[in-house]
Amino acid sequence: MTINIFKNIRNRLSTDPAARHSQHLLLVCQAALPVGIVFTALWLPIFAIVGNWHLVLLDGFLMLVITACWEAASRGNFSTGYLAAQFVCALFVVLFSLLFDVPSDAVPRVCHFYFLVIALAGYANYGRDRGRLQLAMIVLCIAGFVVFSSSPMTFAFATPLPDTVRGVTAWINVVSVVVLLGGGIVLLQREFTLDGNMVRELRAALDDEQFELFYQPQVDQAGAVVGAEALLRWKHPKRGYVSPDEFVPAAERAGLMPRLGSWVLKEAAQTLSGWRANAATSTLVLSINVSADQFRMADFVALVTGTLEAYGIEPAMLKLELTESIFVADIDDLVETMKALERAGIAIALDDFGTGYSSLSHLRQLPLQQLKIDRSFVRAVTESGRGASLARNIAKMGHDLSLEILAEGIETEEQFQFMLSCGCRKFQGYYFGRPVPLAALEERIAAPTQALVG
Ligand code: C2E
Ligand code: MG
Ligand code: MG
Repeated sequence: MTINIFKNIRNRLSTDPAARHSQHLLLVCQAALPVGIVFTALWLPIFAIVGNWHLVLLDGFLMLVITACWEAASRGNFSTGYLAAQFVCALFVVLFSLLFDVPSDAVPRVCHFYFLVIALAGYANYGRDRGRLQLAMIVLCIAGFVVFSSSPMTFAFATPLPDTVRGVTAWINVVSVVVLLGGGIVLLQREFTLDGNMVRELRAALDDEQFELFYQPQVDQAGAVVGAEALLRWKHPKRGYVSPDEFVPAAERAGLMPRLGSWVLKEAAQTLSGWRANAATSTLVLSINVSADQFRMADFVALVTGTLEAYGIEPAMLKLELTESIFVADIDDLVETMKALERAGIAIALDDFGTGYSSLSHLRQLPLQQLKIDRSFVRAVTESGRGASLARNIAKMGHDLSLEILAEGIETEEQFQFMLSCGCRKFQGYYFGRPVPLAALEERIAAPTQALVG
């Protein structure tokens, strides 16, 4: 379960550092609530064994309230649910400290140490959502800790637990607080080591040649294969094939994409060189994905043209796919590189179109040849009238800009027919074939009578 939480954290982190930090904090806070529930649940049998049924009731109630706050936090406004959980926990600490954990000569009061844990949990939330109430909660918890630490705070209405019990629970509580505080701090800093493990593995994978390219067919309106997209796969020694969605973001953050992308380029050139020699494949165009930092390499154009030359490949046989994330950088430099590639005869496609940052002015400015309509729009065409008209308008906009339109993620005949009626002339998706190893794609091309659906 811990591994899954970490995996989730890693997978769901954005590539933008500020957004990534905020997502990381949110996941730490999300982990804090179930920890609180488990923790209160563990105390229930202890209170039952010592026969203090008031405490069993109070602790059971606290557990239920934190569970309700967790529910509320995961449904709607996270901060409100999370704040409510901190509030009831702090209230519990006050009540427990005043009523049951009354200091004596033999055993000191320790329950108020939990104020520090609540303050740390609040601090994680304050890092992502700087609300005044959250800040007030942190200040109150610290104040509570200071007050209970500095004065005995004993009152006549208290019904203290016997010292024999407190003698044991004081040890349990202090150890728990140290573990929770330490664990919380480690989790807040964990972001780097999470990536660190994967990055170490990715570096080793590059050295050990654990990467492979899979190929997904791209077809024309008659369903004939006219090209393919090369998609990276990591053949992990223990986990089997790992999807690029899982490792490309970490590789990007670690600056590994230029190296990985160069390997993809070389591998694609080798494939194209093999295709050139065969009549059935000599006209196929191969698309490769290029990440933003790879595209911004000073010698990127020279690397691409040099590789094509080295393998004796016509530049028109290679297409580079860029995603809209590239537009966060200086657009003038970008256009310069794109124009140099265009002069060299290499086509550029805009991948996942509609999901990112590009504006109409970008589209007008950029020397693009193809727009790939993202599969989320294609999926929506059969789901609602609005989805259908959105896809139609995106296709029309592409046509107005004289771009070739490829519809991604076609999974059904209905989606294919609809995108065809929008004027799309190139298609890609599971309906025409899933990404497969090179030999499987070549086999299919050699036997075109095989089923259209992959
Ligand atoms: P992408 O470039 O948009 O690639 C298409 C993704 O959609 C592929 O996922 C493909 O398997 C999936 N797909 C294709 N048809 C369908 C369909 O009909 N339905 C559904 N649900 N999915 C479909 P994959 O291979 O997991 O790649 C994910 C992303 O990873 C790619 O999205 C691309 O952005 C990135 N990627 C893959 N290879 C490379 C690479 O060599 N370099 C870089 N920089 N990024 C890569
Ligand atoms: Mg792509
Ligand atoms: Mg795409």
